[in-house]
Amino acid sequence: MEERILLSEKEIPQQWYNLLTDLKTPLAPPRHPATGEPLKPEDLYPIFPKSLVAQEVSSERWIEIPDPILEIYRLWRPTPLCRARRLEKALGTKAQIWYKYEGASPAGSHKPNTAIAQAYYNKQEGVTRLSTETGAGQWGSALSLACQLLGLKCTVYMVKGSYEQKPYRRIMMETWGAEVFASPSDKTESGRRIQVEMPGTPGSLGIAISEAVEDAATHEDTKYSLGSVLNHVCLHQTVVGLETKKQFKLAGLKPDILIGCVGGGSNFAGLVFPFVPEKLAGQEMRFIAVESAACPSLTRGQFAYDFGDTAGLTPLLKMFSIGHRFVPAPVHAGGLRYHGMAPMVSHLMAEKLIEARAYQQKEVFEAALLFARTEGIIPAPETNHALKAAIDVARECREEKVILINFSGHGHFDLSAYEAFLTGRMTDSTVSDETLNKSMGDLKKI
Ligand SMILES: *Cc1c(COP(=O)(O)O)cnc(C)c1O
Repeated sequence: MEERILLSEKEIPQQWYNLLTDLKTPLAPPRHPATGEPLKPEDLYPIFPKSLVAQEVSSERWIEIPDPILEIYRLWRPTPLCRARRLEKALGTKAQIWYKYEGASPAGSHKPNTAIAQAYYNKQEGVTRLSTETGAGQWGSALSLACQLLGLKCTVYMVKGSYEQKPYRRIMMETWGAEVFASPSDKTESGRRIQVEMPGTPGSLGIAISEAVEDAATHEDTKYSLGSVLNHVCLHQTVVGLETKKQFKLAGLKPDILIGCVGGGSNFAGLVFPFVPEKLAGQEMRFIAVESAACPSLTRGQFAYDFGDTAGLTPLLKMFSIGHRFVPAPVHAGGLRYHGMAPMVSHLMAEKLIEARAYQQKEVFEAALLFARTEGIIPAPETNHALKAAIDVARECREEKVILINFSGHGHFDLSAYEAFLTGRMTDSTVSDETLNKSMGDLKKI
């Protein structure tokens, strides 16, 4: 019986899988923030390169991964598919639990899968610098790495609260050559305005997005890069699910229940999308998206058009959302604190092809401790949500089902969260219906 299924470099998938072509009903188009009209590809050219805009709406089922991207993927791909046999024993479950270890990348998460691709296409089109936002720093560090490897400059607007409290991810970005500004900064019009309007604010992802987008829109040589939510990001992440498929085939197994945590939805999409055609063809398979109870877009949100950012500058996307002005509690899983959900993941939810669960942070850290103490790896706070769901599902299993988790990242830079849990200082927070109804009230007006 195998415990770790490794592939050779030659077996890294050569194409990404585009689920858009296999959806039974078409995806609702993004709309212009001012006019409400369906967006034209040209509308996005000031901030994204043409090739990525083309991927956003592509009608090709398979998209070739260019050789220079594959060459960089080979620094850590293929990632191992591992069986958590010691965890299974501790649970006394009949189920098999497998995890795809995306913590193996240099940045420690799945995010470089798209960061590398985005940096490559920008470079191809003559862009010399990318701007982006980051919360705790996972996306910023992935893009800094990608820009360094492809010879681009990188500017990261990092939410000020994290910039001051979480220096390690910032140092990582600077080590990879990026310039990092605490947001709101004095580098942009929107940053300067916020500083006047809200003196001393610790910033937010929404503010940082406004700064990064403005930076790209006002500099000829610069484009903007987003780490989740968009179709092309989900597309790049399918390398994860495609690789997993090959690994299971080698083991002579098929997964029954696929589980991923969801912030903007990209790691879940990357694992699950390549398996969707099999489910559409009638195979029995469950896909479970796991969110933070502090930011419950899939389990308590509405499927409606909403903005991607707080300021309401981005295109309108049809997605499960709890309102673009919703401010989630400062839970440790920073990557899950997003008010919306990838339109493609939202679409699958609306079609009832996937199911969703939400957990509080203390229960997910309890699950993480069990994982760390049986399997050894210390998971990222986001990943803990997927582990908690897998453990619950395994406990419910009466038959020998095969459970598969996207292990989205390790938690080596999140040890202060573990300290809070271990010393009993971690707290849960519930979102009242009243708060949600209020922030979702905006959605009806759009
Ligand atoms: C960013 C991040 C997430 C959440 O983002 P998705 O786009 O939903 O995948 C999950 N896990 C880790 C480790 C992350 O860094």
